Amino acid sequence: MRFEFDNAFVRELPGDPEDGPRLRQVEGALWSRVEPTPGAAPRVVAWSAEMAATLGLAEDDLRSERFAWIFGGNALLDGMQPWASNYGGHQFGVWAGQLGDGRAISLGEALDARGQRWELQLKGAGPTAYSRGADGRAVLRSSIREFLCSEAMHHLGIPTTRALGLLETGEAVVRDMFYDGHPREEPGAIVCRVAPSFIRFGNFELPYARNDVALLRQLADFTIRRDFPHLRGQGENLYADWFGEICERTAQLVAQWMRAGFVHGVMNTDNMSILGLTIDYGPYGWIDDYDPDWTPNTTDATRRRYRFGQQPNVAWWNLARLASALSPLFADTAPLQAGLDRYATAWHAADRANVAAKLGLELARDDDLALRDALHGWMREAGADMTLAWRALIDFDPDAPSPDLLAGACYDEHRCVSAGPLLRDWLARYAARLREDPLSAERRRNRMRLANPKYVLRNYLAQEAIDRAGQGDYTQVHELLEVMRRPCDEQPGCERFARKRPDWARHRAGCSMLSCSS
Ligand code: AMP
Ligand code: MG
Repeated sequence: MRFEFDNAFVRELPGDPEDGPRLRQVEGALWSRVEPTPGAAPRVVAWSAEMAATLGLAEDDLRSERFAWIFGGNALLDGMQPWASNYGGHQFGVWAGQLGDGRAISLGEALDARGQRWELQLKGAGPTAYSRGADGRAVLRSSIREFLCSEAMHHLGIPTTRALGLLETGEAVVRDMFYDGHPREEPGAIVCRVAPSFIRFGNFELPYARNDVALLRQLADFTIRRDFPHLRGQGENLYADWFGEICERTAQLVAQWMRAGFVHGVMNTDNMSILGLTIDYGPYGWIDDYDPDWTPNTTDATRRRYRFGQQPNVAWWNLARLASALSPLFADTAPLQAGLDRYATAWHAADRANVAAKLGLELARDDDLALRDALHGWMREAGADMTLAWRALIDFDPDAPSPDLLAGACYDEHRCVSAGPLLRDWLARYAARLREDPLSAERRRNRMRLANPKYVLRNYLAQEAIDRAGQGDYTQVHELLEVMRRPCDEQPGCERFARKRPDWARHRAGCSMLSCSS
């Protein structure tokens, strides 16, 4: 096990003069040195074969005690320089001040054989200067969710931070899962997360809020140099191109979430990646019965700020916060406004591409957006499963339009029957539309197959894996990891991972209700 480290973040940016986890406000610095807290008996329970291969790790490495020892926070490899990064953020629409990596410790920036940079970060390895009174630990249930979902997202083609491995720490962590005065002990775990950069919108917001323009500029210059090396130009023009690209990437990210039915759950600005990656898997969820107002996050249940259908607007709002934070780098606001406009343009283009791909059209016309919306309208009326309904549509035959094809996606027979006329209408429209489209049936179906996955990490599937892991049985974690590697393939024999949510999971904690307690 050998890595080549190039720790640019701590080398090139100012750090906190104080080391260690004492809680403090850190001004004039972008990171604090802190060592992971050694774990009692770290044990690797799962890893991503793709991520391991990218990092040049062999199976023997992953199975070795040394790997568990290092990624469990007990020792450092040569070249590792652990740090926690300092950032702020808007949480639920309100400026929250300094937040920082309260339970994430970066070990170093590894360069892979192709020269690609991968920051290795332990989530749940103990307190830092930014733990704000919490323990810096993570529980097994949320670690399994983050581990599985980040890899599942990657295989769905959705930009995301990655996960190298999942470890049990061998220590208990106390959590009050629903903040209702019932704390209990849960197994502790660590996810080794991996990304080219973990820089967030909130990293820029904090120096801005403190009026530290020199630090803000230093961070912006660094981020462009390290994470956006393809951008050329100078001064304000360069900053403008950079902000525009962030806006565009964010638009593409959210469009992908909307395509696949993913709800992030906590789109605070500290959870927004500068590279447009999905980051910080907490109370996220997947849409079962189509409902744009749904959020899995019980902490947000009354206002539903981060509900499914709201995500494109929230992303824009978050970008506007980033624009404010970057405003000291500009003489006037026009280039920032132009960046935000680029978000809108990119969003509409990506949404239109989704429509074409999901409906299997060569190109989407204006009226196709309404056609897609009408199908969602039926799903909502009928209470139909989003993933199953879209997937079933692949087999649609415009010469023999049968509503039975989609009826299997419904959760409630009564609602399905009463929404029947809507569906028949819609299928007739779709059949007519397909006749005007040049794609052959085969090409249409291939196109749809890639845009409408069969397998997504349904909330209840992850919860089943968690329940079993709590008994020491990791079978379903491994099965899900495997099946989510090819989410758009049929994978005969794996159908049980493509079924609609069972009744027992409808209102169960972990399946439809998740809190930020993790
Ligand atoms: P999140 O909502 O998970 O993105 O977390 C918001 C902030 O709380 C971040 O600064 C986290 O590092 C911090 N945080 C969350 N859970 C813990 C914990 N158990 N220990 C320390 N800090 C935490
Ligand atoms: Mg976070």
